[in-house]
Amino acid sequence: MPRMSRRLVLCAALAAPLAIASPPARAADTIKVAASFTVLGDMVKQIGGDRVEVKTFVGPNGDAHVYEPSPGDVKALADSKILVVNGLGLEGWMARLQKSSGFKGKVITATTGVRTRQMEEEERGTTRKIIDPHAWQSLANGRIYVQNIRDGLIAADPAGRDIYQANAAKYLADIDTVEKDVKAKIGALPPARRKIITTHDAFGYFGATYGMEFIAPEGVSTGSEASARDVAKIIRQIKAEKVPAVFLENVTDPRLLDQIARETGAKIGGTLYSDALSEQGGPAATYLDMFRHNATTLSEALSS
Ligand SMILES: [Zn+2]
Repeated sequence: MPRMSRRLVLCAALAAPLAIASPPARAADTIKVAASFTVLGDMVKQIGGDRVEVKTFVGPNGDAHVYEPSPGDVKALADSKILVVNGLGLEGWMARLQKSSGFKGKVITATTGVRTRQMEEEERGTTRKIIDPHAWQSLANGRIYVQNIRDGLIAADPAGRDIYQANAAKYLADIDTVEKDVKAKIGALPPARRKIITTHDAFGYFGATYGMEFIAPEGVSTGSEASARDVAKIIRQIKAEKVPAVFLENVTDPRLLDQIARETGAKIGGTLYSDALSEQGGPAATYLDMFRHNATTLSEALSS
């Protein structure tokens, strides 16, 4: 027993000068994390706090389906220790960016473990099944995203464990609060008014979780344009089913929905944030603000 305590004393004595010799900046060093789009960038900031420095490739109001990485993005990814992606086919441009950057860090796929939705997409007369990548549009999935990001940050930076766990716990509690509000707002809408039109099919998870039906002339990717036949079909559907409102999206061209609203008399209910957050100071600068804004917009447009 006395031997052991002598060893401990010796270790402490050795460690002390080492701690002084090592650069004092160590504790202030930040972990560089790259995120594919704004929803993930915000989540990493919420969970990583001051410990992380986040680079988000597709910025506010940007389209994550189609994106042209810049030389600056290549360099930023090369300098990053961690990359956070959505997966499920959202970021078709990422593989090339990863390759050209030579990135060798840890990849966190935020959707790991999410129960995915399959959708049928019609193209040139043939129907194919595809996985809907917009899983973040349900807060239940948002919790899984947060857990995956938290665990990935801890794995890549174990010294930050306590910070990541505490921030994630607070964030998960905030998600619970916002989800109660979203459920109350959508739940108060008359069932007959819960069918609406958006430009592209980004709200399937939202609809399935909170009880709404979203119909979109474009498919789950903004990359495919709606055909004249798709638009004609939706116009007939709006008239037949008395769809009360169409909603613009922050990431898509408003002209198509303007046209549909004109031809059907459906009102434009406002702008929903689908695949990107707003600028700082805008109505949806964080993931949770996006949900608050979307639920309020739907509620105000559809309850009257
Ligand atoms: Zn989308």
